[in-house]
Amino acid sequence: MAIHFTAQNIFDALCTQACRGCGQFGPFLDLFTGYRHCITCVAYSDNLLSITTSSAKREFGLSSKSIRTLPKLLSIPGQYTESERTYQRRISLVRMHSAAAAGSMQQEDSNASCPRTRPPGRRLVQQRGQRLQPPVPHRALRQIDHHGQNPYRYMAMIRLPFLDRRTGSLDWGVSCQACRLAPRDERRGYYNWNTVYSAAGYMEHFQKCEVSQIGRKVVPGYINPLGNKYGSSDAKFLGFLSNFKF
Ligand SMILES: [Zn+2]
Ligand SMILES: [Zn+2]
Repeated sequence: MAIHFTAQNIFDALCTQACRGCGQFGPFLDLFTGYRHCITCVAYSDNLLSITTSSAKREFGLSSKSIRTLPKLLSIPGQYTESERTYQRRISLVRMHSAAAAGSMQQEDSNASCPRTRPPGRRLVQQRGQRLQPPVPHRALRQIDHHGQNPYRYMAMIRLPFLDRRTGSLDWGVSCQACRLAPRDERRGYYNWNTVYSAAGYMEHFQKCEVSQIGRKVVPGYINPLGNKYGSSDAKFLGFLSNFKF
C-alpha cells in the first residue's frame, strides 16, 4: 500500500470506525482504496467487486496497454469464504468498475479514430461530484459474482482495528453469538448475525437482544465485548440454548 497511500491516509482509516459505504462499524480496510467497509458492503457493493485481471481482460476486451493503467492487487494465499477452500496461488485482481471504465475509454479511443464503428449506448456518464464512470455491466456482474461466497471480494480486504485516540484502545469489533446460535426471532431482538459491532455498538445491541441478556446470566462471562476468546464457554452457551424454551 505504501506507494499508493500516505501514512496519514492509513492513520486516518485506523482512527475512523464507520464504513465508507453505509456508516455502520467497518472492520475491513480496502487495499484498493484505503477506506473502511462493513461486511455487508464488502459482500454486496458493486464498487467493491474485484475480478481477476485475466477475467477483466477477457470480459471487457482490454488491451495490454489498458490493463497496465488499472490499479492491481496480488492476493495472499489463504481461506476467504465459509467454504474453507484454500487459495494457494497468488491471484492478480482488479476492480470491476475500473476495468469497465478502462473498457469504455478504450472503446471511445477506438471510435475517435474510426467514427463509423461507434456502437450505441456505450457513452460514459458523469454526475455532479462523481468520477467519470461507465454504467456497470450487470450481465457480467451476475455471471461472475457470488457476493458473500465470492473469495475475490475478500482478497482485497484486511481486518483493521479501530483506534480510539482518547483512550488509546483498539477495537477489533465483535459479533453477537446469541444472534448467530439462537433461533432468529426479531421479536426477541435478533439482528443479522453477520453484523460486526464496535464495543459500544454491541452494548446498544445487547439492550435489545433478549437471548444475550438471559445467556449472560446463565453463562457468566460469556457475553463480553471486550473479553478474550470464548473458548469452552461456547459449548456452555450452546448447552444453555438447547434447554432454553423459545
Ligand atoms: Zn457498509
Ligand atoms: Zn444478538
